[in-house]
Amino acid sequence: MTKKVRYAAGIDLGGTFVKLALVSEDGKILFSDKLEIGSKATRDEILKTLSIGIQKIKESADIHGFELTGIGIGSPGIIYDGVVIGGADNLNGWANIPLGEIYSGEFNLPVYVDNDANVMGLGEVVFGAAQDCTDVIFITVGTGIGGAIVMNNQLYGGYKNRGAELGHFTVDHKGIDCNCGGRGCLEAYASTSALIKQYAELSGMDIEKVDGHYIVDQFKAGEPNAVYCMEEHTDYLGHGIASFVNTFAPQKVVIGGGISEAGQFYIDMIKKYTFRYAMPDCAVHTDVIGATLGNNAGCMGAASLVFKNVN
Ligand SMILES: [Zn+2]
Repeated sequence: MTKKVRYAAGIDLGGTFVKLALVSEDGKILFSDKLEIGSKATRDEILKTLSIGIQKIKESADIHGFELTGIGIGSPGIIYDGVVIGGADNLNGWANIPLGEIYSGEFNLPVYVDNDANVMGLGEVVFGAAQDCTDVIFITVGTGIGGAIVMNNQLYGGYKNRGAELGHFTVDHKGIDCNCGGRGCLEAYASTSALIKQYAELSGMDIEKVDGHYIVDQFKAGEPNAVYCMEEHTDYLGHGIASFVNTFAPQKVVIGGGISEAGQFYIDMIKKYTFRYAMPDCAVHTDVIGATLGNNAGCMGAASLVFKNVN
């Protein structure tokens, strides 16, 4: 007998949008949409927008004649047991919010919530670049660096899910200050924001006129400052990732975030530096690859929380 395909609501809460999707257990998106949240949105306004999003997915499922198995939500911040505890700096008042309780009450469905980067990493394991792997490190490179650890087929976030902050791994103990209050973190050197800052300083350009696309284009054209900055950027990433390889011996390290879509050359540069610095015996079974879910990683990962947790 073939197993009946299940369906879940996948919600990806970001700083400016709520992305939503109806996702099937075999990895298809049957409906998707996004709702804007203003930069000044209050906690109650964000909660209301999430509710509208879930309702839209539910209506779409009803039209298709599908029953929802549950609701998965990826949110910024530290999340434990369905509650956003805090640490979401880009959303006003986003702390001490029992998201699981709120929406399981409203929709009468099981609700699973985890940190946005964790959810994206899980999505890549369940539906994306690292399918069939049990041990994976996921890194998303953007304005910051987020990460996820999948260990023995489960997300690992440390005690009460407060860890897995892979962007705040120290690469220089006397280094530059980081947004987290620490110093010398990988994020401070190897985020896209850090790359843009380094390039603008080196080339004397107005930072407002520089973005990741511009640097990648200049790199491809062989412009020396861009070549230097991209080598530095991927060298830092390789350093950080090598330490994760030595610690976790993952089967795959998956690189996501906007800049990871620049091309295979970008992944190859990170891979070169990773293997230069990782202990060979730790890296025997490791590959470094690009993420494949792109903008859908958040919603698909959120839905995968449901499929992983509901028997
Ligand atoms: Zn930091």
